[in-house]
Amino acid sequence: MPIPGSGLAKGLAVTLRTMTRKSVTAQYPDVQPELPPRTRGVIGLFEENCTVCMLCARECPDWCIYIDSHKETVPAAVPGGRERSRNVLDRFAIDFSLCMYCGICIEVCPFDALFWSPEFEYAETDIHELTHERDKLREWMWTVPEPPALDPRAEEPKEIAAARKAAEKAQTAAEAAAAAEAEARAAAEASAQAEASEAAAQTQAETQTQAEAQTQAEAQTQSEAHTQAETQTQAETQAPQRPEQQEGPQ
Ligand code: SF4
Ligand code: SF4
Repeated sequence: MPIPGSGLAKGLAVTLRTMTRKSVTAQYPDVQPELPPRTRGVIGLFEENCTVCMLCARECPDWCIYIDSHKETVPAAVPGGRERSRNVLDRFAIDFSLCMYCGICIEVCPFDALFWSPEFEYAETDIHELTHERDKLREWMWTVPEPPALDPRAEEPKEIAAARKAAEKAQTAAEAAAAAEAEARAAAEASAQAEASEAAAQTQAETQTQAEAQTQAEAQTQSEAHTQAETQTQAETQAPQRPEQQEGPQ
């Protein structure tokens, strides 16, 4: 049960705290205010993304978006193909004298063609000037801040998850192909090295065989020459004894 008079004490405490706090005066327009990034100042149009679907104009509770367009026929991309028609934007305007900055048009745009800009200095003395046509809405696009970074704990968007998976798959495939190529190259190098070694061994064997054959031939030649020389020497040794034997009995 609350103590009687506690509410009054709390209120006085807040009053005292506020009284003792240092007052801050915004020095606008000499110093521009630091606005939060999601400030709803004015709406910018990125007309390249606009398909003239009219969703924003239909959903605007104030009916302050004006869109005019016409249809154009696009010739078939391939011979025998079907012609297509597309909407071409003629006018896109927002009347900011009626706009209540609810942001519904930006939320419902399915093609990200509308953005909030924090710019707010577009007061006019003539109310008609507050209807901003497409050129002016496009100019506001250059004042649209970068989107804030995603919350690290937020669930990954489906599109980004799909793109990441595709990129990982492609990278894995590329790595596998590179590894297979490197393996094939290594195998080819090893095979070439083995062939070279085999050829060198064969050449060495042939050289050795030739050398052996030559050595053997030389040895045989030497042996034959030696034998021949011995035979000749023996023959020469025996040859002078014959006349003595013949002369003996006489
Ligand atoms: S912010 Fe709201 S009121 Fe303003 S144009 Fe968009 S939908 Fe209409
Ligand atoms: S909802 Fe978006 S795409 Fe559709 S008309 Fe409006 S701005 Fe263009």
